[in-house]
Amino acid sequence: MKAVLHNDRLKTIQRRHPWVFSKAIKRFSGNPSAGDIVTLVSEDGNFLARGLWSPQSSIRLRILTWDDEPIDADFWENRLKQAVAWRGEIPNNEARRLVHAESDYLPGLIVDKYGEWLVLQALTVGIDRYKHELAEILNGSLHPRGIYERSDVDVRAREGLPESTGLLVGAEPPPLIEITENNHRFLVDIQQGHKTGFYLDQRDNRQLCANFIKPGMRVLNLFSYTGGFAVYAYSAGAETVISVDASESALELADKNLALNGFEDTPLLAGDVFEIMRDYRRDGETFDMIILDPPKFAKSAKNVESALRGYKDINLLAWQLLNPNGILMTFSCSGLVETDLFRKVVFGALEDSGREAQVLKQLEAPPDHPVALTFPEGAYLKGLLCRVV
Ligand code: SAH
Repeated sequence: MKAVLHNDRLKTIQRRHPWVFSKAIKRFSGNPSAGDIVTLVSEDGNFLARGLWSPQSSIRLRILTWDDEPIDADFWENRLKQAVAWRGEIPNNEARRLVHAESDYLPGLIVDKYGEWLVLQALTVGIDRYKHELAEILNGSLHPRGIYERSDVDVRAREGLPESTGLLVGAEPPPLIEITENNHRFLVDIQQGHKTGFYLDQRDNRQLCANFIKPGMRVLNLFSYTGGFAVYAYSAGAETVISVDASESALELADKNLALNGFEDTPLLAGDVFEIMRDYRRDGETFDMIILDPPKFAKSAKNVESALRGYKDINLLAWQLLNPNGILMTFSCSGLVETDLFRKVVFGALEDSGREAQVLKQLEAPPDHPVALTFPEGAYLKGLLCRVV
């Protein structure tokens, strides 16, 4: 099956961007259906690339290879082995992203390792069709105890796919799996937790947070989820870490995680971060460090504006709640809000607060979440480590 690319779209293919939009396709032959392997050719018939067809998505074809090679069992095995090899040795009970979709040259596929378990996420109709084959290959090379599917993500709707979760290979995972991260212990619910269970993309930033804790500090950990940053902050000597999240079940697990690391009865607040920050401002509460790690506010191009207002609101409140010399770690995981734009919003909020601050470091996801230079969309997580002066 073949698709012919419009001549005026050759540039993006030559730049090896892995997405071919429906408008870029002049015509196609062979009546490809969901997840079929389709060869992309130029108007004069030359081979360009080969990938997986998504008939319902505006991203019609996702490129797997720019070489004229078959997409067969060997192909998948080589790609998976390469991605795993790039991660190097991983201690048995640690967690890592093993496959980061486009940026590991496997568009639509996420694979995370949690100790002896793997979690697979199929984001596209093409990967959905191959997921059992991919799980078998991973099983044969990595021998996990089980591979669990967590394809319960919004983007699948754009592919015409329902959500799908459950065991793919091996044994049913227990309700909670214990992992170690930088010598801290965490319980992860891979079956029902957010994403594939844990925000693996914040591992290095959690460690960095610890480096800026001084004994006695009062820390506000906003959008805490299961207490990741709180465990690091307490371990580094913080006096108090208040964790805030809207999800009661996330806070219950945060409580367990903190206890597992030796910190009992820490303050956990269930509620809306926007409201709680306003209450703190009204009451004149202040903090030595604030961590602001909200969920993806910009879900589509249509709501980028309102997302930016959300980011500005919480960052303004954060600047207002910090003690002199206080540290702010502020993040956005909205792929649609680029690094420079996010920085402008944080700066705009600073201006409104009338304070002055320094950027100590730009933040991003760790190296197990690579960003292919040909795929700038992969750089979804961005953040700033700042000090109020
Ligand atoms: N920092 C965490 C990850 C945060 S994910 C870590 O290192 O693991 C974002 C969290 O924000 C989720 O747990 C979600 O439940 C929570 N959340 C989303 N909207 C919220 C709101 N308005 N107020 C409080 N929490 C919210």
